[in-house]
Amino acid sequence: MTKVDIKSLDYQELQAYVAGLGEKSFRGKQIYQWMHEKLAESYDEMSNLSKALRTRLEGETVFTVLKPVQVLTSALDGTQKYLFELEDGNVIESVLMKYKHGNSVCISSQVGCRMGCRFCASTIGGLNRNLTPAEMLEQVYRIQRSSGERVSNLVVMGTGEPLDNYDNLLKFIRMLSDDHGLNISQRNITVSTCGIVPNIHRLALEDLQITLALSLHASNQEKRKQLMPIANKYALPQVLEACRSYFEKTGRRLTFEYSLVGGVNDSQEDARELSGLVGDLNCHVNLIPVNPVKERDYVQPDSGVVQAFKNKLEKNGINVTIRREMGRDIDGACGQLRRKYLNTHFC
Ligand code: SAH
Repeated sequence: MTKVDIKSLDYQELQAYVAGLGEKSFRGKQIYQWMHEKLAESYDEMSNLSKALRTRLEGETVFTVLKPVQVLTSALDGTQKYLFELEDGNVIESVLMKYKHGNSVCISSQVGCRMGCRFCASTIGGLNRNLTPAEMLEQVYRIQRSSGERVSNLVVMGTGEPLDNYDNLLKFIRMLSDDHGLNISQRNITVSTCGIVPNIHRLALEDLQITLALSLHASNQEKRKQLMPIANKYALPQVLEACRSYFEKTGRRLTFEYSLVGGVNDSQEDARELSGLVGDLNCHVNLIPVNPVKERDYVQPDSGVVQAFKNKLEKNGINVTIRREMGRDIDGACGQLRRKYLNTHFC
């Protein structure tokens, strides 16, 4: 008999499962609360359940708990990077960033990634597997419990392509924002995608209030193809059309991420072309000076070039910020801590 992945069951599903065990309905509510509100690490903590029920659940279910194998804290800004081990021995990373407006967690959605973006460390070993809803929730739960800080914001910008793990992502978002759980506002949740067009259209119809961030990184199709293989499958006009439709259906302002790579996409001409692409959309552009990855030879532009790029967009009436680099002293960029760990332990 395959075991039930109990932490991936949403509120309704858990009620049905517990009723199927012949238990009274309030038990389902109690168990959900232990897992998703009190963030229990084991059945042993569930002190208002009988020993017999706990033993039965132990036998019939998988109770996902992530194990922190490394926690690094930035001396510069307090950012914390967590390297978690999953039940099958895989490792993933998550980040806690502390801002004046609250605490934000960045989670991974897959073990590895198959999108192949040239500048990204997460994709170097390819995709290993999707994360379950429980494994995505657990990243937030362990961080909130171990740091003692309430998590108010969430970004799906760690390793993996969230729209390549669509069903689990959707369940995760609904459970995280459920008032039976941590009840994190959907308005404080951002999902970042490299541009899987059919799933952007699908997401627009899910009746969610989340922010969509599109990894653009280039101002025309030719350049985008060189940085992001996904552009061969979904061309830039289609991607932008999907974003426009997302805004029209949800009313949520779009975010475009643009990693500035020295000598590749950082010229004034690029800024002009980019303005033309997004100028008529209700959007915000986030510029990210590329984080050099050991295995790749991309470099950051000089700070003057970054500033000039920003100024050009602003002159064209575009809302733009340069992303503040968090945790620069602790392998801040996506996938770098995990790669370092894999390199030292398995290569
Ligand atoms: N798969 C999703 C989430 C990935 S990571 C996506 O593509 O959006 C979040 C963002 O960081 C993406 O915009 C990604 O392109 C960017 N990124 C990845 N590696 C980077 C690096 N070395 N420097 C700067 N940005 C990077």
